[in-house]
Amino acid sequence: MNRRKFINLTALTAPLLSFSKVTESIPAVKPIMISTWEEGKNVNKAAWGILSEKGRAIDAIEAGAIYVEDKISCCVVLGGNPDRAGFVTLDACIMDENANCGAVAGLERIKHPLSVARKVMETTPHVLLVGDGALKFALQNGFTIENKELSIDAKKEYEKWLKKSTYKPVINIENLPVQVENKDGAFTMPLKFDDGSFNHDTMGMIAMDVSGNVSGGVTTSGMAFKMHGRVGDSAVIGAGLFVDNEVGAATSSGVGEEVIRTCGTHTVVEFMRRGYSPELACKKTIERIIKNNKARAKTLQVGFVAVNKKGAYGAYAVQEGFVYAVKTKQVDRIFKSAFFYKAPKSED
Ligand code: ASP
Repeated sequence: MNRRKFINLTALTAPLLSFSKVTESIPAVKPIMISTWEEGKNVNKAAWGILSEKGRAIDAIEAGAIYVEDKISCCVVLGGNPDRAGFVTLDACIMDENANCGAVAGLERIKHPLSVARKVMETTPHVLLVGDGALKFALQNGFTIENKELSIDAKKEYEKWLKKSTYKPVINIENLPVQVENKDGAFTMPLKFDDGSFNHDTMGMIAMDVSGNVSGGVTTSGMAFKMHGRVGDSAVIGAGLFVDNEVGAATSSGVGEEVIRTCGTHTVVEFMRRGYSPELACKKTIERIIKNNKARAKTLQVGFVAVNKKGAYGAYAVQEGFVYAVKTKQVDRIFKSAFFYKAPKSED
């Protein structure tokens, strides 16, 4: 299991340059499945059977989520880091080609929150259920309650965190971010794990099926050591996920508060509606986050990935390091997102 590394960098001097090279992907032949982070490659694989058999994008999204949610020991969803009070609270949402959507927030001890979100979408007149209400709804719909023990890794991380109990929640981005002081004040930058690999709590997925219908979903335990009751972008339609079947879809990972502040994925989709490529649409939305508060933006990560109706895809992030996996008939690989701030070289 990957171990996260906290490194205190004191002499970080690399300049913060803007890297905004925009490259439009070659339009892929339908179907297409896109998922955030390295683990997205396995998620795409798990969903691919449905898409290649001409199944619906929404079913592929759920299959991808189920795959990653089952990996309880690997820091995703139920295996993820708890909130400050020691509870793992899950956020998830789903949206289909007809603008149907469902979400859950602050759901505890249920292995498949995205499937609960789908039930909300398909069987209730509502969009979002939270906390105890979401749990009751899940149990009424045949979901079973899981052990409340933290995963081994989450327990270790929590115990480590408890020693300092810093108020500021730590965002789990491409590598564990480290607090650094520079002339602008506190600064968070990501670093790699000891073994060079990465770990993430959030899985965002967008897909287009052979019929050209677009859907998406997000499932997460959210930001590590968040306040109990905090809801992130992953449960908020228009923030962590947005789908418009005339235009395309987008999903996000990173500091949910920033994504909510900009109605992030809705903004990305609206930029695509105006004719921007997926990458440019993501870039313009990231620039809005940065423009809103440059000092704050330097300390955080947000990444968006989007696909349009032609099957073109692209991504953009605040910091270097955001990656996403794409699967089509021709492509099965992880792409590095374009980004605004280049990560300084680590001197460890
Ligand atoms: N967006 C998630 C949240 O704010 C965290 C993440 O992407 O890792 O809860």
